[in-house]
Amino acid sequence: MATAQTSPAYQFVDHKFDVVVVGAGGAGLRATLGMAEQGLKTACITKVFPTRSHTVAAQGGIAASLQNMGPDSWQWHLYDTVKGSDWLGDVDAMEYLAREAPAAVYELEHYGVPFSRTEEGKIYQRPFGGHMMNYGDGPPVQRTCAAADRTGHAILHTLYGQSIKHNAQFFIEYFALDLIMDPDGTCTGVVAWNLDDGKIHRFSAKMVVLATGGYGRAYFSATSAHTCTGDGGGMVARAGLPLQDMEFVQFHPTGIYGAGCLITEGARGEGGYLVNSEGERFMERYAPSAKDLASRDVVSRCMTMEIREGRGVGKNKDHIFLHLDHLDPAVLHERLPGISESAKIFAGVDVTKEPIPVLPTVHYNMGGIPTNYWGEVLNPSPDNPDRVTPGLMAVGEAGCASVHGANRLGSNSLIDLVVFGRAAAIRAGQVVDREAAIPSPNAASVDKIMTRFDRLRHANGSAPTAQLREKMQRAMQEDAAVFRTQESLENGCRRISAIWKELPDVRVTDRSMIWNSDLVETLELENLMANAICTVYGAEARKESRGAHAREDFSSRDDANWRVHTLAHLDADGTVNLSYRPVHTEPLLKQEDGGIDLAKIAPKARVY
Ligand SMILES: Cc1cc2nc3c(=O)[nH]c(=O)nc-3n(C[C@H](O)[C@H](O)[C@H](O)COP(=O)(O)OP(=O)(O)OC[C@H]3O[C@@H](n4cnc5c(N)ncnc54)[C@H](O)[C@@H]3O)c2cc1C
Repeated sequence: MATAQTSPAYQFVDHKFDVVVVGAGGAGLRATLGMAEQGLKTACITKVFPTRSHTVAAQGGIAASLQNMGPDSWQWHLYDTVKGSDWLGDVDAMEYLAREAPAAVYELEHYGVPFSRTEEGKIYQRPFGGHMMNYGDGPPVQRTCAAADRTGHAILHTLYGQSIKHNAQFFIEYFALDLIMDPDGTCTGVVAWNLDDGKIHRFSAKMVVLATGGYGRAYFSATSAHTCTGDGGGMVARAGLPLQDMEFVQFHPTGIYGAGCLITEGARGEGGYLVNSEGERFMERYAPSAKDLASRDVVSRCMTMEIREGRGVGKNKDHIFLHLDHLDPAVLHERLPGISESAKIFAGVDVTKEPIPVLPTVHYNMGGIPTNYWGEVLNPSPDNPDRVTPGLMAVGEAGCASVHGANRLGSNSLIDLVVFGRAAAIRAGQVVDREAAIPSPNAASVDKIMTRFDRLRHANGSAPTAQLREKMQRAMQEDAAVFRTQESLENGCRRISAIWKELPDVRVTDRSMIWNSDLVETLELENLMANAICTVYGAEARKESRGAHAREDFSSRDDANWRVHTLAHLDADGTVNLSYRPVHTEPLLKQEDGGIDLAKIAPKARVY
């Protein structure tokens, strides 16, 4: 029940819940549903209508070793994920993902997700990059379950319906500002701003779950929605907690040239291939076995090298062609209707007749809020690298469990959302004391949150938000790109730090509390900057190449020194303090109990 309370400047509407989930994408909805199903009084706060979350845009599919199209096993899926992560992922979390994936997909099927079907009526599965048979030996395995090329859309709508059925309470178009923290480091809730009527709400809870998605919009050209601004990472950084492995940013090989919209990897899964200006299928040269279905970091680098060496297509020789025109139009119509439409609208191309102009485009953030495989947020201490922050969880792209390590395999994010959304709910069912009183908001913490909000609301400097944002996006795009050097990264650190110093000079022109998009974008800019600055500093410090972090000056992987997770603590003045925590290398199941043979996942060179 909401009761109004007065404070000097702002009135609060107060709520008490067992669990508050921030975010209604695939991860937030799966967590919300799981919490509500267990009878926990659950709120879900979201800045956009649930079915407008970025998950709705996911096209290609969701990975699980169902074996509907041929042999497969969770051990092969685990191997591919370990190799895809370039040996940076936590093995316990990756094993949990691969093992739980089939059950999670069947659960989605039973909830009502309208998957595409095989002749026999089973869930249709397509090949995707980096997913192979026989512990990487190949050939490519058909593991990615799909609802045509609108899989995220199907999943999100289904999960929203299910959450409502279980009486979760939704607070839609509420912008979460910051976490309410007790002085002892326990999270006890979140303050949110109702964009529609301007009221400020204090949500107190025994458990807060951040499911706020990625921060692709820190870059100039990204496949992610404009709402992907890393708000959860910003909140965590301001609460004095670290972010993990932020230097690993995935470029998807096939963003539409210019527009940046995604053409799913499923297009190559269905037989599409890339060519350079000489008409050559160049991936055959770089990845003789997996070819166009090598993992994303590899394909993005190869495309960039082709362009650099003068074999790009188009007037400026600055992009690559993706051919689908050799495929049966019926297949395109049935399996890839969405991207056929996107190619028409955003590139003016009829995919049955012409190639699509494509370019590697920022797509996914492997780094995020560090968690264990139950979604509990970690605040490592010198004597305990796995210390848990009481009252706080993170799931989905906002989190870093870490199942994707240095590079995520395609279709491994959607499965991450549902497996770990569910795991967080199971864990909350164990640790939330239903009898205990719901904590009251710490006054000092709320004051701090409202002081920041008020400062931005009345910000009267000389730099419009959009101007600072574009500066940040250009710096990230130029200096923390597909290929990196000491020089580019030092440049990036300098540029982003300089923008950080300009933040106090931001200008907000709208002072109102109702539908103030100027203020929303300014709050988002501060969040993006927190993510961006940790990304460039983490990248500058990491003197090796691993997964998506490809350094021309340190071109090989250095397991002896760098098989560690980066932790970035951000001070209010923009200082990034880096430390490191060990990678979990132990699986959950022993080999004699059916687990993977450890020798299989020992680090080795990563070739496709
Ligand atoms: C175009 C595209 C295609 C993709 N295709 C695939 C694919 O085929 N397979 C695959 O596995 N992965 C795919 N991915 C990746 C995957 O879709 C995403 O990683 C995943 O959907 C992220 O889900 P999420 O639940 O973590 O966050 P999101 O879906 O991004 O949702 C974030 C939620 O947080 C809320 N939120 C954020 N900040 C606040 C705040 N301050 N206050 C209140 N609410 C807030 C938002 O309202 C939203 O509800 C794709 C990604 C893109 C961009």
